Amino acid sequence: MIEAGVAHFRATNKRTLLDIVCKLADLIDRTFGLGPGQIPGYCGHEEIELALVKLARATGEARYLKLASYFIDQRGQEPNYLMAETQRRGDKLPWHMYFDGLATLQAAKPVRELKEPVGHAVRQMYLLAAMADLAVENKDATLLQSCRTLWESIVHRHLYITGGVGSEPYGEKFTEPFDLPPDRAYAETCAAIGVIFFARRLLEIELHGAYADVMERALYNNVQSGMSLDGTKFFYVNPLELIPAVAKRRYECHLVKTQRVGWFGCACCPPNVARLFASLGEYVASQRPDGLALHLYAEGDLRFTAAGRDMQLSVQTDYPWTETVTITITSISQLPSPNSGGGSAATLYLRIPGWCRGATLQINGQSHPLEPVNGYAALHRNWQTGDRVALTLPMPVERVRADPRVATVAGCVALQRGPVVYCVEEADHGPNLAALTLPHTAPLAIRNDPALLGGCVVIETTGTRDRTGTDLYSTTASGIEPVKLRAIPYGLWANRGEGEMRVWIRES
Ligand SMILES: [Zn+2]
Repeated sequence: MIEAGVAHFRATNKRTLLDIVCKLADLIDRTFGLGPGQIPGYCGHEEIELALVKLARATGEARYLKLASYFIDQRGQEPNYLMAETQRRGDKLPWHMYFDGLATLQAAKPVRELKEPVGHAVRQMYLLAAMADLAVENKDATLLQSCRTLWESIVHRHLYITGGVGSEPYGEKFTEPFDLPPDRAYAETCAAIGVIFFARRLLEIELHGAYADVMERALYNNVQSGMSLDGTKFFYVNPLELIPAVAKRRYECHLVKTQRVGWFGCACCPPNVARLFASLGEYVASQRPDGLALHLYAEGDLRFTAAGRDMQLSVQTDYPWTETVTITITSISQLPSPNSGGGSAATLYLRIPGWCRGATLQINGQSHPLEPVNGYAALHRNWQTGDRVALTLPMPVERVRADPRVATVAGCVALQRGPVVYCVEEADHGPNLAALTLPHTAPLAIRNDPALLGGCVVIETTGTRDRTGTDLYSTTASGIEPVKLRAIPYGLWANRGEGEMRVWIRES
């Protein structure tokens, strides 16, 4: 009885909330557009576009899709609304527009003409997420092509190894291709979440592991870095290299926090992290016409439908620390027909990450060939309750080097295991991490440390440290000394007090 009352309250409340949202959207719809008496404008900070698509899907109301499409296509058209509005108000250009002008707001030209990401990174990613949504809803091939062009540019020229984007602090912007400095990185937490939004939408359009690989890179590294282990403190800016004293003195680092803080004046990132983690299920897997696609491996139960039946599976894993993922079919609904049997035909699409070589698969203890197509192994069979799939994803430590055009990390190497990027911290090595060198032949060992940072896998090896001399500049080397190196997951850095951190380590 109480339960029924709660359900009724929830249903009623949901309707009321939706009514409020619709009322607001209707007002915006009446106000903005190219019709008589309407303002031919659009928002300087994209986000409403993807929200309108969600609202259209929730209500079935096509008007909201049309409004989102209008906002996308009106952006950057001449005469430029944002310039006209600035002049009409007698305002100056906002501070963050001085360098790149309207491109800062992705409004210098129509969005379909963009070939490289520009401007404020979070806005760019939200714009792209909406463009991908609308490409699907409107079956708009040219908009989808624009999405693909920008995706390729971002992934191959503008993405930090941690999955972050937007390297310029001034205006929180994209800059030139390959301009990915580790110490001056902006890499806002929200921008990495935007990368995940965009990747997830493209993954829905085309089941291709390349999208999930980037989604996973951003999630386990830049986004994880955005929140402290206890979930109470946050980073807005996520550098890949930090010397706290320098960051506190240099102007271009003035937005960098040397330790996570409880809140920000512009507090977009903390609730964005909360929103992402609260909706992680949407990123882990997706329903396909013939079954289920598993994109990320995390423990939990998943429901899906296949061949008219409701199915449920359970995932057991300690990924990304361990290499094994076990998937068990836990229930299959029965069809009314007495001869329908207990099993059900369905396809499980298992992502084989791009970083993984030599993945193996067993079904009910028997080895099964693994032939991934576009990064997914398709397992089609008549599944029975209790069927068990065991996937092994070997995770050797990898040395990753950047394209030589990333000038700021030339001669350096980063360590990665599975999807996790590693860093070294002052807590393990003392100050002056720039003096550390990792020989390219040094064996890289892993160790599971359940007592460290909530339990994680660390990488241990032996490197060298340059000795400190007496002169600022010298023609003679001060020599080197051997040093034990320990790298921890980048996403967990700055949970042991303030200190230096470095992802890219000099390699000899
Ligand atoms: Zn933010």
